[in-house]
Amino acid sequence: MVFYPLMTAEGHLLFSVASLIMAHKLQITPEFAQGDWLHMVPGVLLGALLPDIDHPSSILGRLFRVISLPISKLCGHRGFTHSLIAWLILLISCYQWLPTQWGLPADLIQAFLLGYMSHLVADMLTPSGVPFLWPLPTRFCFPILRGKNSKRGERFISVLLTVCAVLLPIDHSMDFHVQLDNIVNYLNNKLNIHFPTNTSLL
Ligand SMILES: [Zn+2]
Repeated sequence: MVFYPLMTAEGHLLFSVASLIMAHKLQITPEFAQGDWLHMVPGVLLGALLPDIDHPSSILGRLFRVISLPISKLCGHRGFTHSLIAWLILLISCYQWLPTQWGLPADLIQAFLLGYMSHLVADMLTPSGVPFLWPLPTRFCFPILRGKNSKRGERFISVLLTVCAVLLPIDHSMDFHVQLDNIVNYLNNKLNIHFPTNTSLL
């Protein structure tokens, strides 16, 4: 019988924390660079567990059965919640639809979205993959976690990623947000040269 391993909750949590440390070290955004760990850690952990709400036996599935059961019936495990569109809906919800009076910190929201995305990437490491471009049926996978030792494999990858992230010197980070600003400014200038109007990307 062929054995198809799935990522465990522990694997997802470890993987998300490793991604968070990496995002902090690479200073992907100012929020990741200067964020409060007391906001970012709970955010990333929640994001890492949320996609599996489509499975009633998962941690969040057991806690919120009323939500989990209908999603599981409608979409099945590793369906809609494991797609880019679900992530984009959450992104828009966080920035457009969440009541401002909730006052959720930007670092918590970004960590939550990172955790969610880290879950999708981690699930791609198993042979079942994820329907990243749902509703297209194509499943995306880079199945490096196979066979009965997959649990050890997921721990190894998560720990390796965490160690690499911790060892990454912050002084030599790529300053992604600075570079992104430079690119946007460059495009803005180019557009203004070719189409001298009041429109601006910023
Ligand atoms: Zn999953």
